[in-house]
Amino acid sequence: MNKLIVAKFGGSSLANDKQFKKVKEIVLQDKRRRYIVVSAPGKTFEKDYKVTDLLYKCYCSVDNKNLFENYFNIIEGKYVSICNNLKLDLNIKKFLYDIKNDFFSGASKDYILSRGEYLNGLIFSKFINFTFIDPSDIISFKQNGQLDKEATKMLILNKLSHVEKAVIPGFYGSNKDGSIKTFPRGGSDITGSIISSVMNASIYENWTDVSGVLMANPNIVKDPKNIRNMTYKEIKNLSHMGANVLNEDSIIPVEESKIPINIRNTNNPNDIGTFISDNLPDEDCKDTIAGISGKGNFSIVRLEKLNLINDGLNNLFSIINADNISVEHLSFNSDSVSLIVPDSQLRKCENSFISKIETQLNPGSITINHNISLVGIIIRNINKFRQIIHKIFENLSNQNIKIKIIMQPSCESNIVLGVEDADLSKTIKLIYESINNPVLIEKLNTESESLPIYFNILSK
Ligand code: ASP
Repeated sequence: MNKLIVAKFGGSSLANDKQFKKVKEIVLQDKRRRYIVVSAPGKTFEKDYKVTDLLYKCYCSVDNKNLFENYFNIIEGKYVSICNNLKLDLNIKKFLYDIKNDFFSGASKDYILSRGEYLNGLIFSKFINFTFIDPSDIISFKQNGQLDKEATKMLILNKLSHVEKAVIPGFYGSNKDGSIKTFPRGGSDITGSIISSVMNASIYENWTDVSGVLMANPNIVKDPKNIRNMTYKEIKNLSHMGANVLNEDSIIPVEESKIPINIRNTNNPNDIGTFISDNLPDEDCKDTIAGISGKGNFSIVRLEKLNLINDGLNNLFSIINADNISVEHLSFNSDSVSLIVPDSQLRKCENSFISKIETQLNPGSITINHNISLVGIIIRNINKFRQIIHKIFENLSNQNIKIKIIMQPSCESNIVLGVEDADLSKTIKLIYESINNPVLIEKLNTESESLPIYFNILSK
């Protein structure tokens, strides 16, 4: 078995010198931790800024000297304090000076945003005495902006096969012309996943500030349960629905190579965290749910009595594409369509969008509901599916929460409910409480099913 661990440390794990010390200790505790991927420093207190956000603010204020200096000074303060307190022999001020000049000599946005990870990588490699590898030498993008998987694989193998231990900044790579290109925000997770996959790691550790994946957002639900094991599919669905655990795109590379992900807590390294792999241990399959997450600011567009035969759907998609609207969900039958789209995108072109639909598709009616949130529930105990859903609907209805739409987007165990934005937190809390109610759990374990007939439509 390959004795190699790729460990990625997020911004909160490397926000200041104290965190750097914790991370060094964790890395040195296990010799298999050979490739360390780092994010830019995150917040150290509630109202603090992440370095990547500060870099973006600087980028947007190059024409406003005072504002620029104000933000740049915060960045400088963070890095200088880390280096001074760690007593590093590194002229960080010189690097910062060069980056400051880059802002005024037309550096691209991607280049600027990548500097947070670059500097943190330099500092941590010095602190732990591992080789520094610049990801622009090993992560390669195609002209169309997609990752060039083949080129990246060759570059990583060529470079890392000769390096015993390395620190690699996350979040960016390079285009064919050598210019810097970043992944989407939170993209250091993707870097760690790619390196794990190419180097065939035995495990991809993702270190953050919670002891694994929680069943619901702790800002909404008090002390939510920790999920010990999850499947790749569950975490993908949960992340897609707004859970802030792993970048959604980071799961595919390790999933394809069947490398387990272990989410760990830098501030509590003895906690074993959450393991994510292909299958669940038998014990975990009996759990009621794997998680609840939600995201807001969508619209539901319902078109009724329209002719979908003869290119009707193609015409609808042409209108959607022409208006640059991304579709979160689509369902249709012979003469009606429901679309879920981002509110902000729809509002920009609502009048022209409707008039195009009216002239080209001539529906009997168009209804639009703005300010819709989507709440995803990943149900595990599929044998008890109907009882669980019954309980959730009963509780939501008792609390007057109007369900605007129900979907089963990817598999029968993944339910998505559309509710009003104002009800998002309340809905998540109620679902969590419904499902973790000891009376329900007892009932699920003992009672045979006796449910209203309409619940049968939701499950085989
Ligand atoms: N620093 C980047 C961000 O804040 C990337 C990352 O942390 O993964 O999005």
